[in-house]
Amino acid sequence: MRQVVVISTGGTIASRWQGSGFAADARGGDVLATAVVPEDVTVRVVDLMSVNSARLTTAHQLALLRTVREVLADPAVDGIVVTHGTDTLEESAFLLDLHHDDPRPVVFTGAQLPLEAADGDGPRNLHDALLTAASVRDLGVLVVFDGRVHAARGTVKVQTLAADAFADPSGSRVADVEAGGVVVHRRPERPAPLPLPAADAPLPRVDMVMHHCDGDPLLFNAAVEAGAQGIVLVATGAGNATPEIAAAVEAAVARGVLVALTTRVPTGPVAEIYTHGGAVDLAAAGAVLTGTLRAGQARIAVLAATLAATDPAGRTHALRHALAAPVPAAA
Ligand code: ASP
Repeated sequence: MRQVVVISTGGTIASRWQGSGFAADARGGDVLATAVVPEDVTVRVVDLMSVNSARLTTAHQLALLRTVREVLADPAVDGIVVTHGTDTLEESAFLLDLHHDDPRPVVFTGAQLPLEAADGDGPRNLHDALLTAASVRDLGVLVVFDGRVHAARGTVKVQTLAADAFADPSGSRVADVEAGGVVVHRRPERPAPLPLPAADAPLPRVDMVMHHCDGDPLLFNAAVEAGAQGIVLVATGAGNATPEIAAAVEAAVARGVLVALTTRVPTGPVAEIYTHGGAVDLAAAGAVLTGTLRAGQARIAVLAATLAATDPAGRTHALRHALAAPVPAAA
């Protein structure tokens, strides 16, 4: 028998009608009861919380990270499934992936349709996640949805309502769940795991500011004034803004703020091509380009870096480390 632990956090997969709309309120046992448990798998449920994921805080995410560590301290556990709201699933999954140092998998799943929906997608997703958690090793943190298995890094929510909710727009998926088994296509590229943040580490404010036509530095500077220790600039195109915003970035970096640069565009990397406020100038001002990571995961990389070090140079180093993608181990 393989032993899988389900950590339940809420989301649509745990949501019921509240009279005016749906919200998470079910416990993990209720969620598990909807799914067929694969043969030769035993399941234990840990009820961590039951909230919709747009309400999650850094404290919630670090509690999840520590719970995963505690569960994996038991060598009898073969894998973990985290049931999670889809809205911010990519953020929690990436945070856990940056710190994951165990060959056993942590598999995130959820649903687009609520707990009691006829023909909901939750039961199948949970079954597939249990199967994946019981079968694979050395793939890091995964997202299982609609029969597809994605690496946490790079994967984003790509559908607001449809069942195939997740994909890496700039990459390919890791595996498929087929005919009662998991067919692995590739091993995700993962840098060495970051150490677990200290339990008493102060939680940094990390903000996100999006650029657009007629955009000025006001909101970026407001984030600095609000005490942000990290800011993700969600720029246009391959990572472009204005000379005024480049000057604001330079001033923020001089004050010790860690600034990362990503894009509003769904697919492809940011790149140093344009000046006059483009990525050439933003990088020269001290912003760190985040490759193909989209805004939510770029913010998580900045968050992890600000938790990993207290000085600006150490934080920049930790961010570059979190962004690096070394050559994968042989499949
Ligand atoms: N729509 C979300 C979900 O699919 C709600 C949430 O993220 O909690 O779970």
